[in-house]
Formats: sequence, C-alpha cells, structure tokens
Amino acid sequence: MNYQKNQTITVKIEDMGAEGEGIGKVEGYTLFVKDALIGDLVEVKIVKPKKSYAFAKLERIIEPSKDRIEPPCLYHRQCGGCQIQALSYATQLKFKEEKVRNHLIRIGRFEDTLINQVMEPIIGMSEGFRYRNKAQFPVGVDKDGNLITGFYAGRTHSIISNTDCMLGASINKNILEAVLTYMKKYNITAYDEKNSSGVVRHILIREGFHTGEVMVCLVVNGDRLPESSDLITHLQQAIKGKWNLKSVLLNCNTEDTNVILGKKTEVLWGQSYITDYIKDISFQISAQSFYQVNSMQTEKLYTIAIDYAGLTGKEIVWDLYCGIGTITLCMAKQAAHVFGVEIVPKAIEDAKRNAQNNKITNTTFYEGKAEEVLPDFYEKERAAGRDPEVDVIVVDPPRKGCDVTLLDTISKMQPKRVVYVSCDSATLARDLRYLCDRGYEIKKVRPVDQFAQTVHVETVCLLSKLHEAKHHVNVTLDKEYKY
Ligand code: SAH
Repeated sequence: MNYQKNQTITVKIEDMGAEGEGIGKVEGYTLFVKDALIGDLVEVKIVKPKKSYAFAKLERIIEPSKDRIEPPCLYHRQCGGCQIQALSYATQLKFKEEKVRNHLIRIGRFEDTLINQVMEPIIGMSEGFRYRNKAQFPVGVDKDGNLITGFYAGRTHSIISNTDCMLGASINKNILEAVLTYMKKYNITAYDEKNSSGVVRHILIREGFHTGEVMVCLVVNGDRLPESSDLITHLQQAIKGKWNLKSVLLNCNTEDTNVILGKKTEVLWGQSYITDYIKDISFQISAQSFYQVNSMQTEKLYTIAIDYAGLTGKEIVWDLYCGIGTITLCMAKQAAHVFGVEIVPKAIEDAKRNAQNNKITNTTFYEGKAEEVLPDFYEKERAAGRDPEVDVIVVDPPRKGCDVTLLDTISKMQPKRVVYVSCDSATLARDLRYLCDRGYEIKKVRPVDQFAQTVHVETVCLLSKLHEAKHHVNVTLDKEYKY
C-alpha cells in the first residue's frame, strides 16, 4: 500500500527506538512516531513517507500505554530535552537496559547468552527530577520583543520561555529572573543569531551538589557588561537557602557559532570556580571544564568503576579522557600510580590543582589526545627497551567513543583489565568488539541512569585479558541500589 504525506493512520506502538521514538507497523510498513510510547494505540499523521517506512507525527492517543504517566513538565513535548518523560520511571530503566543489551548484541555482535551472563541490573535514581548541577539557558526575545530565557524547542533555535526546567535545581528560577531584571533595568539586549547583534547569549549556571556553591556565567557578544556590580547585587538577593553565590563570570563569545562558550572568561565577582565533592575528594570546577552533571549517580558510577578496576594498592592505572581528574583521583587512593590524559588544557590545570588540594601525590596528568599520548608513551618506552607496565586502563570517552589508534595501543599494552565508562552504548559496543577481537573478554556490564527522563544511559564495562587468572569482582552496590 502506498502511504501519502499528511495521511492519517491508526497504529499500535510495539517498540521504541534508541532516541525514544515509538515504532509501529501497519501492513509491514514501519512508522516512527516521536512522543508515542510502547503500548500506545495512536492516531498519527504521516510527515515524511519513504518506500518501506515513514516518520509520523502524533495526533491523538486513542488508548494510552499502561506505562504512560502524566508528565510533570508542561513543555515536555516541545522541548528537545526530556524525550521520555511520559514513560513511568521503572519502564524508562527497562528501556535503557534493553538499549544497552541490543547495542551489544546487534552492533557488538556478542552472543545474547554472554550478554545475559555479564549484564548486571541498571542502577536507577531515587529522584528523577532536579538532578542536574549544570544548566545553560539561551536568552532571546518573544514575539512581542520581551526578554525571555528558557530552552530551545526540539531541533530548532526558537526559545520557549521557561525559567524552571525540572531537571535543574529550583534556585535556577531565581537566578534567571534576577539576570532578566538586571538586563531590563539597563536595557541590555539579548543576542540575535540572525544578524549577530545584541549582547547576552546564554546564562550558564553550575551548582555544587554537596557544598551548595553557585556559579553564574553570562555569555556575552562583546567583552563587558554595564553596571555589573548591580548584577551581583541582584544575584546575591536571589540566591538563598542552602545555596551560596561564589562565582560570577563573564564569558566573551563574539563568534557566529552554536558553541556556547567562547575562549575568554573574566571574573566579575568572587572566584573563577566552585568547589564540590565526589566521595571525600574536593574538586574545583571552572566554567569550561567537563564535570559530570548528576552528582549522586556519578558517585555510584565511580564506585562501580573502582570495583571493576580491582584495585589493591599496587596497580599502575591509566585514566584516559580524565576531565578534571575525577576518576583519576578517586582511584589514586587505592592504586600505586594513576596517569590521567585529557585534551582540554584548562581541565588538566584543574586536575593538577585538585590533586594538590587533596594532597594526592601518586598521579601524573598529561594534556593531549588519548590516541596520541598513550601511543607516544608506549613507543618511547619500547624504544628505550622497556615493556611499559600497566595493570588497568580506564577510558571514559565522549559519545563518539575511542579512536582506533588508542584501542590498538591498548591491545598492544595488554593491561590485565580495561574499564570502559561510556555515555553511548552504540560506540561502546563497537569498541568492545574491537578489543574482544584482540585478546579481551567482557566480564561485567552495568548501566547507570545518570539522566532520568531522557534516552541517555551511562554504562560501565569490565574487560579482562583472556587467560588471565580469575579476578574477583565484588560489586558492593547490588543490594543498596535496587530500583
Ligand atoms: N572522566 C571524566 C570526563 C569524561 S567526559 C569524568 O568522569 O568527569 C570525556 C572527556 O574527554 C572530556 O573531558 C573531553 O574534554 C575529553 N576528550 C575528548 N576527546 C578527547 C581525546 N581525543 N583525548 C583526550 N580527551 C578527550
């Protein structure tokens, strides 16, 4: 049967894709429907028809899925952020577990019996909202020219006014309103990307989950703000309760780009960073540094990574893609030496200072690409007639996964264990296949939900060198964090 654009069809949603889209079939023809959930019976309108499938828009829910709930955020459908807020949390977790399992089987080509053996249950959150410690809000105007801030409507750059995103801390609302009040008072304009005019582009907020310290950074098309001392006064009045303003920054971004932060950051008031803790280690976090956005779940994630690393105090460890040294420093207490590698110079500066502040002396940090630093180290050691000693390599790459040069070097160096921390299970599966074809086997896989309401899932995986004496993994989290 030939389906046409704008045609309306009724379909039962039988599956969900990796991006949370509902998938249903009508006479063998597949429909992908954003916002439709598995179990829904829906009426959809065809938007983009192809030969065997089509993208369709949800028009009406005829019979809701038993897992559908009333989403607490009014904007969940317009916003690109929370793709699966209408799904009950228990089902979100099942969906994420399945996503990881499917990627390992389909992309990684691992046997499902193996995956069933090695996969441990996903670690869920106790509270699915208000978990983010960082938020970036674009600033613009509404159709009447009023200053607004909020979020971009999914896949667009039009701003929907909302100062209270439910994934962020509730203090963000006070902060955003204080900034808008200050801007209105001094006629400071919002940046307009169409003609690169106007001043304030974004408001970036970071909070210390344990310390309550707050950073506010205004990203500006230019290098100054008028009457900035009054901005500080407004912010100080707005920030209260357990929160404590520590840093007000101006970041200069005059480029015609989608990248939020520019290169130059100036302190308007207070410090250039805030401090927070992971376990008992303090971290100084600057505006530019990567820092895990969900503090509670990060501690659980790292606990698993440390367990998987099997540290006894004697190991030489490499932590690749180390950011500001969070995993490096958490592992250093239980290892002989940990080397950290990271591409962002400012993050390496932070990592070194974090080691010093915590009086941790058995770490070394290198600035550079993991796929260059590790191979260089390996080649130099070999040239000097030494076989480089390494017990554990930890990788925590961005979504695109590890460069093949790096995976090659890992397989040449033959560490006893590789701990792979991944934010994209598709590239994880690809990279695991590469390593498993070169002398490694998967021992454990454990998804951790760092991003409730979204389709994203973090995964920790332990690989062991084949034919290595059995290493005992004692995952202490099992009982504690059942969902
Ligand atoms: N392990 C850290 C950071 C993980 S995020 C933590 O848990 O907080 C991934 C990090 O990899 C980012 O800090 C990013 O700047 C860095 N990165 C990206 N590409 C890289 C590369 N090719 N080599 C080294 N680091 C890289």
